[in-house]
Amino acid sequence: MSKKVRVRFAPSPTGGLHLGGVRTVLYNYLFARRHGGDFVLRIEDTDQTRFVTGAEQYIMDCLKWCGLEPDESPEKGGPFAPYRQSERKHLYYEYAQKLVDSGHAYYAFDTTEEIEKMRNTYGTDDHKAQYDETTRVHMRNSLTLPPAEVIKLLESGTPYVIRIKMPRNQQIRLTDMIRGEVTFDSSLVDDKVLLKADGMPTYHLAVVVDDYLMQITHAFRGEEWLPSAPVHVLLWEYLGWKEHMPLWAHLPLILKPDGNGKLSKRDGDRLGFPVFAMNWLDPKTNEITKGFREMGFMPQAFVNMLALLGWNPGVEKEVFSLDELVQTFSIERIHKGGAKFDFEKAKWFNAQYIHHADNETLATLAKPYIEEGLKNAVGGTQTYDSRLTTQEYLQKIVGLVKDRCTLLPDLWAQSHFFFVTPETIDLQAIKEKWNEQKQQFFINWAAILESLPDWNEQAIEASFNEHAQQHGLKKGDVMLPLRIMLVGGKYGPGVFIIADMIGKEETIKRINAVRF
Ligand code: GLU
Repeated sequence: MSKKVRVRFAPSPTGGLHLGGVRTVLYNYLFARRHGGDFVLRIEDTDQTRFVTGAEQYIMDCLKWCGLEPDESPEKGGPFAPYRQSERKHLYYEYAQKLVDSGHAYYAFDTTEEIEKMRNTYGTDDHKAQYDETTRVHMRNSLTLPPAEVIKLLESGTPYVIRIKMPRNQQIRLTDMIRGEVTFDSSLVDDKVLLKADGMPTYHLAVVVDDYLMQITHAFRGEEWLPSAPVHVLLWEYLGWKEHMPLWAHLPLILKPDGNGKLSKRDGDRLGFPVFAMNWLDPKTNEITKGFREMGFMPQAFVNMLALLGWNPGVEKEVFSLDELVQTFSIERIHKGGAKFDFEKAKWFNAQYIHHADNETLATLAKPYIEEGLKNAVGGTQTYDSRLTTQEYLQKIVGLVKDRCTLLPDLWAQSHFFFVTPETIDLQAIKEKWNEQKQQFFINWAAILESLPDWNEQAIEASFNEHAQQHGLKKGDVMLPLRIMLVGGKYGPGVFIIADMIGKEETIKRINAVRF
């Protein structure tokens, strides 16, 4: 019987979650769901120097917002708890020791200064030497020191690390699910530290031990981890677990819009789009990096966009629900090459989701934007009519404007005139074709509206048409001016429904307020 599929997302809590990270989460999630497996969130926090307060909670919140929640995690627990590597510290020493005993790892007593000296002595300014098969012979470690000396150093409590002993001239092979056969030359890889002087494992040891102990079957991670893969493959082998090694999938990079290199936080700042899932407040600098959520993306759209950034569904269709993605996802269709990030396309996805959302859902999503807009419009201390924000009223409004919206804040930008009198009126848009006849038309029509018996879209439109005819005007001559009066600009849904919704008094007030 084949093993139950178990995958993991294993972030280090060092900052905000880049969209590449969310995509890794997504592919893990889709694969687990498709195969009836488990999706584990493991926090890789063994590097205390890079630890950032709040980053773990932020990562968990991002997963929640995206609707990609793990089955096992530090928060949820699970059969392989704890899921935070710092809480598993006691587990790793045994394996590091086992590697030393079998001759695949060794103790190294070198100080930082000694290592720095070696890097300069055997390397150049541009290309410093690494601690490897050629330089380790010049260093103070259990391969060069006499055994008695090693024992003495250990017993006297001299700080040491444990390093992997990388073999020379060995071809290390890995079958990657995306890239196929990948071969590494062992001589190019340094003797990575496995266990640090403080007893904490490094990422390399911890990732292998935990993937083994947590029975991970498939490991998806970014392409930037490919250079570390030979160390991991050897550790699986040296620890005697080779047949349990997960199948690897190194995901292609997400590239800058022009395709020149990896998309970074700085590109986002420079080009005005977010690269993090949600706003990230760096506790050290107090700097906020914008997130897709705060920019007004719906999580479903964000996830849909990410799914297609590096994976080809094999059909024309682009809008997929999460369930559909689960049904369609396959590793074979993940690209080998990097995927260019396209912010316009990301917005297109969001627009699709807003246009197709039901009014009930959208009204709930719109409410905070409408409330904020109203508060700003009436001024800090004033209150607004609470009937404006009932679910029923909001549903009507979003139904009228959603086709014009791309991001969630547009739900206010495209509907503010339903709630408050426009602050500015784009008179320029009608000025050229304005004349006395039109002015008179509106003065008279406003008076007629006062006594209009029914106030609804049809009645208002009929009155408008009839009155225009009487003034010898074509409907088209006065429609745009009416829009400008009610909305403030050349946009928005049908003018008569707007008049209907804002009510008789407000409509007349807005018409009468515009004079040339
Ligand atoms: N802790 C690594 C990271 O921060 C995980 C890499 C892996 O998945 O093996 O991305």
